[in-house]
Amino acid sequence: MEVTIVGAGLVGCLLACFLARRGHEVTLYERRPDPRRAGAGGGRSINLAISERGVDALRRLGLDREVLGAAIPMPGRMMHALDGELTFQPYSADRGHAINSIGRAELNRILLDAATAMPGVKVLFEHRLTGLDERTGRLEFGSGATARARVVIGADGAHSAVRARLQALPGVDFRQEYLDYGYKELTIPPRDGAYAMEPGALHIWPRGRAMMIALPNPDRSFTCTLFWPHDDLAALDTPQRIRARFAAEYPDAFELMPGLVEHYQANPVGHLVTMRCSPWHVTTGEVTAGLIGDAAHAIVPFYGQGANCGFEDCVELDRCLDETGDDFAAALELFERRKADTDVIARLALDNFVEMRDKVGSRLFLAGKRLEHA
Ligand code: FAD
Repeated sequence: MEVTIVGAGLVGCLLACFLARRGHEVTLYERRPDPRRAGAGGGRSINLAISERGVDALRRLGLDREVLGAAIPMPGRMMHALDGELTFQPYSADRGHAINSIGRAELNRILLDAATAMPGVKVLFEHRLTGLDERTGRLEFGSGATARARVVIGADGAHSAVRARLQALPGVDFRQEYLDYGYKELTIPPRDGAYAMEPGALHIWPRGRAMMIALPNPDRSFTCTLFWPHDDLAALDTPQRIRARFAAEYPDAFELMPGLVEHYQANPVGHLVTMRCSPWHVTTGEVTAGLIGDAAHAIVPFYGQGANCGFEDCVELDRCLDETGDDFAAALELFERRKADTDVIARLALDNFVEMRDKVGSRLFLAGKRLEHA
């Protein structure tokens, strides 16, 4: 069967591997240039945490070793109190269990290489989908190119063009909820060639209604992500204000961030959104169009499960194809059963923001506050 996937991001590439293994011919259309040639450009978080759900999907294709080889295990979280006190909280009683920090660009490269090495997979870069006719399967791209497909799967992320078409159809529900919070990435560079903090941990600075986290990178730097109310992010409009707030609220990290002001001013503010769509697929005559990954269910990142969940989607769709004898219309219909799980993780991810920014460190935070006012 010929299958078209829109989006050669994390989930699109992994899905292509699963489908090619089943003997399907897969064409991936990706709006960006080949990131392996152009260098990792723009986009969302620089690194992300892959947990057992994602590793399980990778293992099924023999990709786990390569991905884990490029990742840094984080067996627990390190809480940073205001007074600089550090508390390590293991994620599991078994120290062998960890979540894994990996660069998004590196992970995408590994998955692209894996997909393009499979027989029957081709990737067309610089093909941004701009139009889809779900009745005829006609695809239109920004360059003016067109194509036709009987099976189209949108793996084109939270702002999916495939979903945009589906949600315009009668009977398709769609809801998006933005948080009042944004995120901004900053850097803690290596110090004297070494990690400036413990690399085997996900670092968290819980500060009540806001927080910062940091994940280690293989080059011995850390990528920090601030999750702050939009108003707070906008309020730091001078170098003095930036330095003053960090010195007051993240004093230990502040000491480790020589490029703070430049990074704060240069790096964009990202938005945090939950998107719910139902159903995820439409079949009209011979043509079936469906959604997977963030295109179907974008969630906020506080459980570190968006990509993991998208990888698990691929396993589930593979299972649905097993159960339906590779009838894509029937398999995508069956795949809707996964929505119950993705709705739960969407809610847990929102709840975990309160847990991370407030509850995990509330005693530490209060202890720090007492010191501050002593
Ligand atoms: P994307 O990664 O968005 O890929 C979509 C692809 O489609 C892209 O390559 C894009 O260029 C392409 N595309 C888009 N539109 C078109 C078009 N019209 N035509 C052609 N191509 C198109 N998840 C985790 O599991 N762990 C984490 O620790 C984690 N941390 C995160 C931190 C932050 C700050 C954020 C914002 C997200 C985080 N996530 C994390 C979530 C994770 O990034 C997403 O769930 C994951 O990237 C979804 O993969 P995807 O392939 O579905 O979509």
